[in-house]
Amino acid sequence: MEITEEQANHPFVYNAQAAACLNFLACDNDIAGTVSNPVMGEVPSCQRCADTTHQTLKPIPSGAVPMIRFTSATELPEPVVSIPSDSEVTYFLANADGTEVGK
Ligand SMILES: [Zn+2]
Repeated sequence: MEITEEQANHPFVYNAQAAACLNFLACDNDIAGTVSNPVMGEVPSCQRCADTTHQTLKPIPSGAVPMIRFTSATELPEPVVSIPSDSEVTYFLANADGTEVGK
C-alpha cells in the first residue's frame, strides 16, 4: 500500500475510545450511534446532530465500541490524553478485543 505524504509526516498512529458525540466539535452529548462519512469513517454522533445534518444514525452493533484513530508527527507519551491539533482523524467501530468491526 502506498504511503501518503500525510502519513509520512505523521508516522505515529493512535486509537482512543470515543467518549461523546463527535459530529460537531462543540457537541458533547452521549453517543447514540454513528453516521457514515466517506472520509472520516463511522463518526460517533448523538441523535440531535444526526437530525440537524439530515444524516442517518446507525445503531452501534452489540459489543462494539466507537473509536477515534488519529495520527501524530511525534511519539506521544502514554497515556495519550489529547489529540494533537495537526492530527489526521478518522473514526471506526471496534470489537471488544480492539479489532476493527467488519475487518
Ligand atoms: Zn451531537
